[in-house]
Amino acid sequence: MSMRRVYLDHAATTPVDRQVLAAMLPYFTEEYGNAASLHSFGQAARQAVEEARQQVALFIGARAEEIIFTGGGTESDNLALKGVASALAAKGRHIITSAVEHHAISESCGFLEKEGFRITYLPVDQYGLVDPDDLKKAITDETVIISIMHANNEIGTIQPVAEIGRIAKDRGICFHTDAVQTLGHVPLNVNELNVDMLSASAHKLYGPKGVGLLYVRKGTRINPILHGGEQERKRRPSTQNVPGIVGFGKAVQLAAERMAQDGKAISGLRNRFIREVMEKIGDCRLNGHPELRLPNNANISIEYVEGESLILSLDMEGIACSTGSACSSASLEPSHVLLAIGCSHEMAHGSIRFSLGLSTSDEDIDYVMNILPGVVKRLRNMSPLYKTMQ
Ligand code: PLP
Repeated sequence: MSMRRVYLDHAATTPVDRQVLAAMLPYFTEEYGNAASLHSFGQAARQAVEEARQQVALFIGARAEEIIFTGGGTESDNLALKGVASALAAKGRHIITSAVEHHAISESCGFLEKEGFRITYLPVDQYGLVDPDDLKKAITDETVIISIMHANNEIGTIQPVAEIGRIAKDRGICFHTDAVQTLGHVPLNVNELNVDMLSASAHKLYGPKGVGLLYVRKGTRINPILHGGEQERKRRPSTQNVPGIVGFGKAVQLAAERMAQDGKAISGLRNRFIREVMEKIGDCRLNGHPELRLPNNANISIEYVEGESLILSLDMEGIACSTGSACSSASLEPSHVLLAIGCSHEMAHGSIRFSLGLSTSDEDIDYVMNILPGVVKRLRNMSPLYKTMQ
């Protein structure tokens, strides 16, 4: 019998839904026109792109012309920060963000810092939440962009984005949110959230990799960061990825239909998983906020265990999850997110992110709970620190 495979890494990426794939396929082989072409091949492609634009716009309460399709969440984040910074540099050179952003934001900020911008990284509390009062205090007359993520990719914490947006709006400052982990999982409305820009990525909601979007509120000043043709209203040149965009539209349409129900089922399983881990494995702690979190995220610090060893041992049993402890495989630095919420280096190194998805079943959780306690026990028995603590 082949080994059971349990994928608990949906925050890294999701499988493409078969209905999404079916919607995409004709745009590779039959309707392969360039969406910028005048002939009927081009018209068909253009119509498909515009339908997808309508679909995603409707889903987040935007207008179609406020959606820019990009090559992924990373590009959307880069465009938001660099595009607005470039347009507003004469007005001010101060950007406010948080200490727990994805690298697509923090590295873009690092780049802008070298270009002469000053960056304020707001701290977060033990749950990973930004305090809106800290934001108020950090704003200066020079502040031109505030970028605070919607949901954290490691610990799942959902920020008070609407409140932050209200503060930004009152001060007339452009507000961006990275909602890559949120779109399709939790309802999002750009007006209720008071955001001027929002990034999202198709592969986190059962769409294809390499397609993203940036919502840009009408009237927001932004320069392109790529230069070339006139696609996407001159804001993002390059021939449009028609199958990818169609897939993004379909993924959003499916999410709109099933998000509420799926979210409940997934969070139910996730809660059962957390409860059983806490009961069966001692010296564990849930990272992130107990309630204000993504329905599919469980980030758990397992004391006296080294995260990478646990991931590899679980992988040998067919279980895929991820460590929040290394920023990249080349780095042994613990996660900046876990350090920001006050985890010690040891706790951060023993932190594992389990992210559930549509395919996750009760049987999957049974299987993981059959395997995990034994693996933790074996690894702890090899830990000198664990032995001294017993
Ligand atoms: N922002 C967040 C919060 C993410 O989780 C990710 C993906 O891991 C990204 C940005 C980057 O998105 P993409 O992989 O589409 O470039």
